[in-house]
Amino acid sequence: MINEADADELEVEERRYVRLPSFLEQGFSALRRDVLDKRICSFCGTCAAFCDKIRISEYELKPELVEGYDTICGLCYAFCPRTFLPLSEIESKIFGAEEARKKAEGDVLGVYRGCYAVRSKRRDIKGQDGGAVTSLLAYALHEGIIDGVVITTSDNHWRPITKVAKNYGELKEGAGTKYTIYPSVVGIKEAIRAGCESIGFVGLPCQIQGLRKVQTAEQPYEIGKERIKLLIGLFCMENFKEELLDFVKENLSLDLEGVKKFDIKGKEFLVYDEKGKVYAIPLDEIEEYIGEGCSVCADYTAELADISVGSVGSEDGWSTVFTRTENGEVIVKDAMKEGYIEAKELEEKGLGLIRRVGESKRRRGSTK
Ligand SMILES: Cc1cc2nc3c(=O)[nH]c(=O)nc-3n(C[C@H](O)[C@H](O)[C@H](O)COP(=O)(O)OP(=O)(O)OC[C@H]3O[C@@H](n4cnc5c(N)ncnc54)[C@H](O)[C@@H]3O)c2cc1C
Ligand code: SF4
Ligand code: SF4
Repeated sequence: MINEADADELEVEERRYVRLPSFLEQGFSALRRDVLDKRICSFCGTCAAFCDKIRISEYELKPELVEGYDTICGLCYAFCPRTFLPLSEIESKIFGAEEARKKAEGDVLGVYRGCYAVRSKRRDIKGQDGGAVTSLLAYALHEGIIDGVVITTSDNHWRPITKVAKNYGELKEGAGTKYTIYPSVVGIKEAIRAGCESIGFVGLPCQIQGLRKVQTAEQPYEIGKERIKLLIGLFCMENFKEELLDFVKENLSLDLEGVKKFDIKGKEFLVYDEKGKVYAIPLDEIEEYIGEGCSVCADYTAELADISVGSVGSEDGWSTVFTRTENGEVIVKDAMKEGYIEAKELEEKGLGLIRRVGESKRRRGSTK
């Protein structure tokens, strides 16, 4: 008979020599079964960013194995935000257990230290809202906090492209919102290959979730995760398939090269042309283009980012900014001191609105 001491010892032995960590047990075929076949992939790009065997084709947004053989190394399954998401465990690791505990149960605003309305003080930054994202990244690049940042810019027809910006000029190309799905996290692979040692990333809540899983998962591979230093997350209610651009072009008889900006306000998708004319399309009419993976998404405010930025909650021309980690809070405060941005406390009314929108998104995500 095995006594208690022997059993303890056996368990330690098993953990040390026999039991394989769970990430080694699932490969791409499991990812296909649990995420792709269930049509809940958000096309964040995390699986392809850290595995050379996975590719997401530009023409058909679909992660696929480049070679037929699935090595079951487990990284794609472990990093995908749609396989499992141990939210409170990740929150404790990145914000610290004490900060994480302060979050009210289920609060859609997530863990945060400060919330502000922010506007760029750089005249040459023309952002989507207050230009907060571009200005904060400009400060971080200038100070050497990061030496490259993965941004999402676009071609002349508004199709998104990921780019590693290493200087102010390149960074400014990313300003403005692109409302079509793109696996921007793959840009991290490019940044690592380009030799960046301190990488910044800006992207959607699902993309931030994937990168936080990368940073916090226990696994033995050298994948360069320690180089990821700053994550700026964008608020997001939904994103759209590329067919939306064809719909806009045909429906409004517009050449997309002449579009200056897309935006969503209330229940309308707005298209601004270069002459300042604004076209409004009811959101109901473009519902069919919403990405399938968005239907199960419950994160509105990019709860796991260092800094989260959106438009809801602030007046026009300002961005709403949540600082979540200490690093994020220091960057916002120092960018203000150094004259990159101006900031004021966010009003209760704004916070209430963000909470209501975030709760409606969570209800939508949890009913699917
Ligand atoms: C698909 C999408 C849906 C959004 N939905 C909401 C919403 O429901 N409510 C809300 O309040 N805000 C939403 N936002 C955020 C909002 O549109 C602005 O991005 C945010 O307010 C920051 O504005 P800014 O002027 O500070 O940023 P800017 O200085 O203009 O910088 C914008 C940054 O966003 C990045 N970016 C642009 N498009 C994408 C993309 N498709 N994927 C990844 N990164 C991208 C660029 O790299 C750039 O660095 C959404 C953004 C996106 C991309
Ligand atoms: S959600 Fe992201 S990580 Fe998961 S399968 Fe899709 S692209 Fe890959
Ligand atoms: S709604 Fe969720 S899944 Fe869809 S793009 Fe936004 S963060 Fe990603």
